Amino acid sequence: MPTLPNVNCDWVALSRRVLAGEGIRHDEALAILNSDENELLNLLHAAFLVRQHYFSRKVSLHVIRNAKSGGCSEDCSYCSQSSASTGVVPCYPLQSEEELLQGAKEAQAMGAIRYCIVTSGRSPSRDDLDRIAEAVRRIKREYPLSICVSLGILTDAQAAELKAAGVDRYNHNLESSERFFPSICTTHTYVERKATAARVKAAGMELCSGGLMGMGETLEDRVDLALAMREVQANSIPLNFLDPRPGTGLKDRPRIPAGDVLRTLAMFRFVHPDREIRIAGGREACLGPLQVLALYPANSMFTSGYLTTPGQGYQADRRMLDMAGFEVVEITDA
Ligand code: SF4
Repeated sequence: MPTLPNVNCDWVALSRRVLAGEGIRHDEALAILNSDENELLNLLHAAFLVRQHYFSRKVSLHVIRNAKSGGCSEDCSYCSQSSASTGVVPCYPLQSEEELLQGAKEAQAMGAIRYCIVTSGRSPSRDDLDRIAEAVRRIKREYPLSICVSLGILTDAQAAELKAAGVDRYNHNLESSERFFPSICTTHTYVERKATAARVKAAGMELCSGGLMGMGETLEDRVDLALAMREVQANSIPLNFLDPRPGTGLKDRPRIPAGDVLRTLAMFRFVHPDREIRIAGGREACLGPLQVLALYPANSMFTSGYLTTPGQGYQADRRMLDMAGFEVVEITDA
């Protein structure tokens, strides 16, 4: 077992403490990330004990829709939709209400419980907000799906409008630690991101907020992100792992090794025992044949691809879940 000052790295004992309601310390979270490959299956087993307690073998499937793509004014260095990127991505304005409804129909057909409508851009325009609100009202009338939207920085009034339209959850990632954030974005601040997260909660929506690993951050930055998720009271935590995109500022970053992906997911499970933790972008690229192991700490995943990159596909996702004995959460369970 790894030896770090003041940390007993008995992962099963740690899972018992977490299940007894004890929060893990910063040094313990760091010890998880520093543990070696020989400890990986023990660590995943312990994280699974926590995950199983709250979520049994259930997996929530989410389907994401890139409702407005490219041309973003912001300079997030990981993002191929930024106007600072020279990469080629689809570029189109906000899709019509009919297209957004069609996406909901497809999500339901794939057994998703949640349909996530995402737009590029710093914040929504008046017209875009109106169209999305109307589409959400229609989706909620026609489908039993939970709706999450991700439209960038919000005002109090915009958050209230989305809540009134029936939006269940709003996604706004903090992405990394406050210390590291200025290294990846200069057009808006961490403080602005946290303010939107607070507005989402104040408006009565659930908050989906997570981050992206592999941008050059330290292990301490990953722990700080996990602890920041407590501060903003995220209900759902999507964890992305960089699959470097051509033309972006991070195009030359190496992919995170699979073991680091799994240790990061386990650390988030210990810090957030009862929260929805989603293995998100980079699942296939960084984990390859090990990707099902992500679901021992995580209890949620996207199926059928991401915003600008395809996944392994819905059929392969379902086969993977079935073979490992995971059960997809039905809308009636949610
Ligand atoms: S605000 Fe969103 S769409 Fe715009 S560059 Fe950043 S991550 Fe990409």
